[in-house]
Amino acid sequence: MTAAPGALPEQFDRIQQSIPPTVTLIAVTKFLPVETIRSAYDRGIRHFGESRVQEAIAKQADLSDLPDITWHLIGRLQTNKARKAVEHFDWIHSVDSLNLAQRLDQAAQELEKVPQCCLQVKLVPDPPKAGLDAAELPGLLPQFDQLAHLKVRGLMTIPPQGSSEATAREVFARAKSLADTINQTSFNRLHIDQLSMGMSGDYEAAIACGATMVRLGTILFGSRPPSPQIS
Ligand SMILES: *Cc1c(COP(=O)(O)O)cnc(C)c1O
Repeated sequence: MTAAPGALPEQFDRIQQSIPPTVTLIAVTKFLPVETIRSAYDRGIRHFGESRVQEAIAKQADLSDLPDITWHLIGRLQTNKARKAVEHFDWIHSVDSLNLAQRLDQAAQELEKVPQCCLQVKLVPDPPKAGLDAAELPGLLPQFDQLAHLKVRGLMTIPPQGSSEATAREVFARAKSLADTINQTSFNRLHIDQLSMGMSGDYEAAIACGATMVRLGTILFGSRPPSPQIS
């Protein structure tokens, strides 16, 4: 049995409605077809998360009749795609190095845009994962604070794959406390008012710990096709 293109699973509305109105629900549509994005849009979703710049650009071209979508880049970003990311996304959640931030800032200046950014942080050791080390971040903040063309206003974090709920909660609580600490320092620009944390398996814990943006794929849309190979 194949569902119509873009058909949403039964639980979609229930999950959507369970997210508190103070929390932004980002529907993660990586590897899913544009029909799915249209269906979610018809149910009122306006924030969409994509993990790859090229894939998102192709979808955006198809969806250009839907002008009020806010696009979030949530996947790892290579510096050579910084300019395209600034051109095509309102939010970049995966700022994981000062070098990348500087490239984004430069592109933003040239394009006369001000992308909203989250610093992706690692709050427990997690070698395979991208992210700024929580221990080294404080020393880098004065340099992030200089970037006049970025609006750095969030922390994004992902607990290590396979974390227990207790570990996930610990990670989320540390993110919240790191944001509080940053906000106690008087920077010129940096002020953290967003915590991007929580995926299908752990978003309830994340919301309980202060998430302001959750990034949900599987629980909204069902399992997605495998990641296409990049040639
Ligand atoms: C894929 C992805 C998600 C969504 O994951 P689900 O477990 O399907 O909800 C959230 N955040 C990031 C960074 C992702 O890459």
